[in-house]
Amino acid sequence: MRRYLVAGNWKMNGTLASAQELARAVAEGVPDESSQVDVLICPAFPHLAGVKEAVGNARVRVGAQNAYHEKPGAYTGEVALEMLVDLGIDAVILGHSERRHVLKETDELINRKVRAALEQKLQVVLCVGELLSEREASQTEAVLDRQMEGGLNGVDASQMNQIVVAYEPVWAIGTGHTATPDQAQAAHAHLRNWLSSRYNPAVAEGMQILYGGSVKPDNAAELLAQPDVDGALVGGASLKPELFQPIIQAAVDAAQ
Ligand code: PEP
Repeated sequence: MRRYLVAGNWKMNGTLASAQELARAVAEGVPDESSQVDVLICPAFPHLAGVKEAVGNARVRVGAQNAYHEKPGAYTGEVALEMLVDLGIDAVILGHSERRHVLKETDELINRKVRAALEQKLQVVLCVGELLSEREASQTEAVLDRQMEGGLNGVDASQMNQIVVAYEPVWAIGTGHTATPDQAQAAHAHLRNWLSSRYNPAVAEGMQILYGGSVKPDNAAELLAQPDVDGALVGGASLKPELFQPIIQAAVDAAQ
């Protein structure tokens, strides 16, 4: 059986002090290993080291929200994957819709980052998801296929245990419009089928596919109950322990 992963994407929020306080609250409530639920928190770059320290030995992974694929050097303003490794960071979110649509990242650039992150042995949370206009034009599956093909170009089956896929319909991110459990399940099942044909059934079966897009305590249980939903990537609600903790608990309950 696949484990659940609940990941918090803190985006460009907080101060060092508030990020550390939030990290300590998450660490205090983290379920133990036997729950089959893992927790990942992803603060902004300047808060990574402080959050890592705040988490201490608790069973909470710390990830970045982005990184640059080139080796350390003359890339003003960028952050190398090697720097994340040096801080003891466990994971990196790549291809988030805000980076695709606001920062104009292409599948090709995301793929470079994915391959470089895999080389550094970081866990990659690869985000994919369609715009509302694409869903309305019945393009959801074609968009997911293109983003998966593009993002995973040159990645072989032996590396896939370092990848987590996050299905995040763009129209559901930060909007309060969550995908229905059926919509989420259909997209996740499509992604798992894609993984099975592009790689093999074992890769598809083992892959954690997270749902992201306005996950809240009141919709988490239904989403996590879907057979192909293996966790959540949570934005807004991950900034408040009183909202994030019940989502983690919903995963613990779903894993029973
Ligand atoms: C996200 O940013 O990955 C996200 C899912 O945000 P929210 O939960 O706020 O929709």
